[in-house]
Amino acid sequence: MFTKNIQMVDVRGQYLNIKEEIDKDIQEVIDSCAFINGPKVKEFQANLEAYLDVKHVIPCANGTDALQIALMALDLKSGDEVIVPAFTYVATAEVIALLGLTPVMVDVDLDSFNVTADIIQSALTEKTKVVVPVHLFGQVTGDMDEIMQLAKEHNFYVIEDNAQAIGANYKHHNGNISKSGTIGHIGSTSFYPSKNLGCYGDGGALFTNDQALAKMLRKIANHGQAKKYHHDVIGCNSRLDAIQAAILDVKLKRLDLYCDARETAASYYDTQLKDIEGINIPKRESKSTHVFHQYTLRETTGRRDELKEYLKEKGVPSMVYYPVPLYEQEAFKHYDPNIQLKATEKLCKEVISLPIHTEMNREIQDIIIEAVKSFYK
Ligand SMILES: *Cc1c(COP(=O)(O)O)cnc(C)c1O
Repeated sequence: MFTKNIQMVDVRGQYLNIKEEIDKDIQEVIDSCAFINGPKVKEFQANLEAYLDVKHVIPCANGTDALQIALMALDLKSGDEVIVPAFTYVATAEVIALLGLTPVMVDVDLDSFNVTADIIQSALTEKTKVVVPVHLFGQVTGDMDEIMQLAKEHNFYVIEDNAQAIGANYKHHNGNISKSGTIGHIGSTSFYPSKNLGCYGDGGALFTNDQALAKMLRKIANHGQAKKYHHDVIGCNSRLDAIQAAILDVKLKRLDLYCDARETAASYYDTQLKDIEGINIPKRESKSTHVFHQYTLRETTGRRDELKEYLKEKGVPSMVYYPVPLYEQEAFKHYDPNIQLKATEKLCKEVISLPIHTEMNREIQDIIIEAVKSFYK
C-alpha cells in the first residue's frame, strides 16, 4: 500500500501555509533588534488578552516556568499541599516539588481524563493551599464552577494548567462562556512548538483577572523587580522573546480555525472508530468544547502495546500519553509510597493517541483509520 509519511503533528506543513507572513514578521523583529521585551511582545500580549477576554497576560519562557511562577506568587510555605492529577505531564507536579511544596496526587475520571470536583473534595486537608486542574488533551476540566465554589469554601487557589487546551470554551452554570485558562485564579500555558498555539522555540504565558496577582507574577518573572535594580522578592528570569511573540501573533489570528480543523478531524475519527469493539473513542466533557491537542483512544482488550506496534509497521505513528502514573516515577515515589489510583493505572495501560493536527486531510486519516480497523479484523 502507498503510505504517506504520516506524522503525529505537522508543524512544517502548517508553517508552509503561513510562511510569507511569518518570515516577514520575523525579519521585522530582526531589523528592529528589539529582541527582548520589545513592542512585539507587548502587541502579542494585548492580542492574547483580547482573544481570551482576560485582564492580564504575562508572557514567560515556557509552560513549566509559568506553573512555577504561579506557585511562587501565592505566598506558600514548605509543606503546604498542592493537589494535582497523577495522570498528567511531569511538569505539573515537578514545580510543586521543586518549590518544597507537597504534591498530593489524585485520580482522574476514566472517561474525560480530567479531575472532578468530587475527587478534589475527597483529597482536601487543612494543608491544601492550591489545586491544579490540568485540562488534559484539549478540554476544560468537568466542573470548574464547582471547583471554584470549593476553592471559596475551603480557601485554596486554583491554577489551571492550560498547556493543552488553549482556545477551548467553558460554559458556566449561568450560561456565560469563559476561555479555558481564565476561570481559575491563575491560568498557565505553553507555546512549545507542538502545542495548539505553538511558537518556533520555547514560550509560555500566565493569565489572571486579578490585578495584584498580575503585578506579582510579572515581578517574579523579572528577577523580582518592578523597578529596575530594585528586587522586592526572589524571582527568576523567564521571558518570551520577540521573535517567538511575532510567530505567535500570526498564529493567534488563526487559532480558532486551527481548533476547528482539529475538531473536524476528531469528529471524523469518532464516526469511523466508534463501533470498533476494543476501542473507546474520547468522551467529550459536557461543559467544554474540545480543541483536541491529542486524540486519545482507550484500548480496552489489553493489547494497547500490540496495537501501537502494529500501527508502526503500517507507517502510522501513535503515542502513549502517559505510560506511567506520576507517583510511580522514581523522582516522586517517596511522597506516598503506597498510593494506587485506579483510573490512572488503567489509563496508563490503555491510552493511545493518534495523529491529529491542523493540516490533517481525509486521505491521511483514512489510512490511519484503516490501519486501526484492520488490527481488530
Ligand atoms: C507541555 C506541557 C507543560 C510544559 O510546558 P513546557 O513549555 O514544555 O515547559 C506543562 N503541562 C502540560 C499539561 C503540558 O502538556
